[in-house]
Amino acid sequence: MQRSRWLLTPGSPREPVTRVRRGAPVRLSTHAASAGLVAVLLVLTAFSVTAAVTNARASAEAQQSAAVSKWSEQVERSLLLQETLVDQLTVEPENWSRTAFDAAGAATRDAIEEMGTVAGAGHTDRTGEWLRLHARYEFAVDQLVVATGQSPRTAERFEEVYVDPHYDALATLVRGEATQHWERVGEALAFVEEVQRVLLVATPVAFGAGLALVAWFTSVLSRSRRETVAQAERNRQQALHDALTGLPNRTLLHQQGEAALADAGTGTVALMLIDLDRFKEINDTLGHAYGDVVLQAVSDRLRATVRGSDTVARLGGDEFAVLLPHVVDEESAQQLAVRALAAMEAPIAVEGISLDVDASIGIALSGRHGDDLESLLQNADIAMYSAKDRGLGVCVYNPSLNDHSPERLGLLGQLRRAIDNRELVLHFQPKITLPGARVCGVEALVRWQHPERGLIPPGEFIPLAERTPLIEPLTRYVIDAALEQCARWRDAGRLLGVAVNVSARNLHDEHFVAEVAELLAHWRLPASCLELEVTESAITADPDRARRILGELAERGVTLSIDDFGAGYTSLAQLKDLPVHRVKIDRSLVASMAADPSDALIVRSVLELGHNLGLTTVAEGVEDEATCQRLGEMGCDVAQGHHIGRPMAAEQLEAWFDARVAVRI
Ligand code: C2E
Ligand code: MG
Ligand code: MG
Repeated sequence: MQRSRWLLTPGSPREPVTRVRRGAPVRLSTHAASAGLVAVLLVLTAFSVTAAVTNARASAEAQQSAAVSKWSEQVERSLLLQETLVDQLTVEPENWSRTAFDAAGAATRDAIEEMGTVAGAGHTDRTGEWLRLHARYEFAVDQLVVATGQSPRTAERFEEVYVDPHYDALATLVRGEATQHWERVGEALAFVEEVQRVLLVATPVAFGAGLALVAWFTSVLSRSRRETVAQAERNRQQALHDALTGLPNRTLLHQQGEAALADAGTGTVALMLIDLDRFKEINDTLGHAYGDVVLQAVSDRLRATVRGSDTVARLGGDEFAVLLPHVVDEESAQQLAVRALAAMEAPIAVEGISLDVDASIGIALSGRHGDDLESLLQNADIAMYSAKDRGLGVCVYNPSLNDHSPERLGLLGQLRRAIDNRELVLHFQPKITLPGARVCGVEALVRWQHPERGLIPPGEFIPLAERTPLIEPLTRYVIDAALEQCARWRDAGRLLGVAVNVSARNLHDEHFVAEVAELLAHWRLPASCLELEVTESAITADPDRARRILGELAERGVTLSIDDFGAGYTSLAQLKDLPVHRVKIDRSLVASMAADPSDALIVRSVLELGHNLGLTTVAEGVEDEATCQRLGEMGCDVAQGHHIGRPMAAEQLEAWFDARVAVRI
C-alpha cells in the first residue's frame, strides 16, 4: 500500500474562478458623466441668472441716476434764471421782473422736490437742505431789493457778502449732484457692457463644454450598455458550461437534447452516458489537481472523437454525456462508443505519472428507449450501470436491464417512501474519553428497517441517496430523530451529545443551517448537544461554500468533526482554515495500527497534527484493548469502536450505559 496517498501535503486548490467585474468602472464613468453634466448645467443656469439680475440692477441704477441728473440740471437752470433776474429786480422791484423772479423761484423749488422724489428715500435730507438754502437765497435777494432802495453802495456790499454766497453754495451743490449722478450712469453702463462681453465669451464656452459632456455621457452609456450585454452573455455562458472543462453542463445538454428530439422527426437521437471507472481512486489518492487534469484530458478526447454537430457535456463529477442528434442505427452509436472508449484507453500523463482511465458507457436511443431527454438520461444511466456491473465497456439499454438493476432505481423510490413512513431507524454508538473511559457522546448511525428485506445497513442506500436530492430530507430526518432521542435522554438525566453524519449535498444546501437551528429550537436543546460529522471529500467538493456553511453552524454553537480523516486525500491547508472542532481518524488506519507500524506512525502524526491545530482527536474503529491503550498513550482524546460498544438501538444503549456504570461503581 502506498502511504503517500494521503500524506498531509498542502492542497492544490483549484484555479480560482476569476470574476470579471468590468461593470464597475463603466458604472463609475456613467455616474461621473451625469454629475459633470448636471454641474455644467447648474453653472450655466447660475451664470445666466446672475448676469440677468446684475444687468437689470445696473440698468435701473443708470435710469435713476439719469433722472436725478436731469432734475439737478433743471434746478441749476431755474436758479441761474433767478440770479439773472436779480439786477432787474433791484432796478424795478415792482415791475414784471418780480413776477418772473418768483416764477423762476417756484420752478427751482419744484425741480428740487422732483429731484428728491426720483432720488428716493435716501435723498430726503439733501432735498430739505437744498430747499432751506434756496429759501435763504430768496430772502437775501428780497433784502437786497430793500437795501438797493436805501443806498446803492450798501446794496452792492450786501450783494457781495450775503446774496452771492447763498447762490454759489446752492449752485455748487446742484452742479456737484448732477456731475456725480452722470458719473454713476457712466459706471452702470460700463458694467452692463462688461457683463455682456463676458456673456458673449462664456456662453459659447459653457455650451461647448456641455455638448462635449453630453457626447461623453452618450458614449459612456453606450459602452455601459455594450458591457452589460457582454456580461450577460458571459454569465449565460458560465451558467450553461462546466467551469473546469468548458463543456456544456447538464442544463445545456437538456436544452440541446430537447431541441434535437424536436428536430429529429423520424430520425434517431442517441444519448451516451459515460462514467469513468476508478476515477475516485485517482482523485482520493493523488488529489484534485490530478483529477482535474484527467477530466480535462477525457473531455478533450471525447470532443476529438465526435462530430461537430454532436454535443459532449459534463454532467458533474466523472460523468459525461454525448448527444448524437442524427444516428443511423443502434450499431453506429455503439461503434462511436467503442471509439470513445479506445480514445480514453491511452494513458494520461500528469506530472510524470502515467494514469490509466477506463470508462463505462450506456446508450439510449430516441423512439425505442424514450421520447424525452429525461427518460433517455435515465435509461442510458441504467445501461451504463449495467456496463459497469458486468464489465462490458458499452451497453445499449433494453427494458430487461431494469430487472438486473432494480436495486438502484427501485430502492430510491422505496427510500423516498421509507422517509415518509419513518422506516429509517437510528442506532447509537458510544464514544469514551481516553484516559478515563467516561462516555462522552454517541454517534447516530441510520439503518433502514425494510418491511421485506429487514435491516439494511447505510452502505447500501446512503451512497445512492447521496447521488440525488433525497439525501437532504434524509439528513433532516436523521437530525430530527437524533435530537428527539437526545432530548429524551436529557429529560431522564442522561446528558449525552449526539453526532450525525452529513453529506456533501447538505453543505450545498442554503437552507441547511436554518433547518438545523429550527430542529434544535423544536427539541429545546442547546446547539452544544449536536455534533455534525463531515467527510473530507464533502468539503473538498466545494471548499468555499463548505467553509461558509460550516462557519455559520460553528457560530451557532454546533460542534463540527472531520470524519474518516486519512481515508482520502487530505489537504492540510484546507483543514487549517476550517472552523472544525474535532478530527476522527479513519477506522481503516486505526484497525491496522497494531499490525502495521507505518499505520501507527501515521495515526501518531495525525494526532499531533490535530492537537497542533487545536482539535480534539477521536479514533474510530477501535476493536481491541491493545489499540485502545496504545491510542491513550499516544494522546488520543476519544475512542469509538466495537471494543467499546457497537451501534445499538436507544434502549440497548441505555442498558449498556447502566451496566457499565454499575460495573464501574
Ligand atoms: P462513519 O460515519 O464513519 O460511521 C462509523 C462506521 O463504522 C459505522 O458503520 C460503524 O458501525 C462502523 N464501526 C464502528 N466501530 C467499528 C469497529 O470497531 N470496527 C469496524 N469495522 N467498524 C466499526 P455504519 O453504521 O455501517 O455506517 C457506515 C457509514 O455510513 C458511516 O460511516 C457514515 O459515513 C454513513 N452513515 C451512517 N449513517 C448516516 C447518516 O445518517 N447520514 C449519512 N449521511 N451517512 C451516514
Ligand atoms: Mg461518522
Ligand atoms: Mg467515520
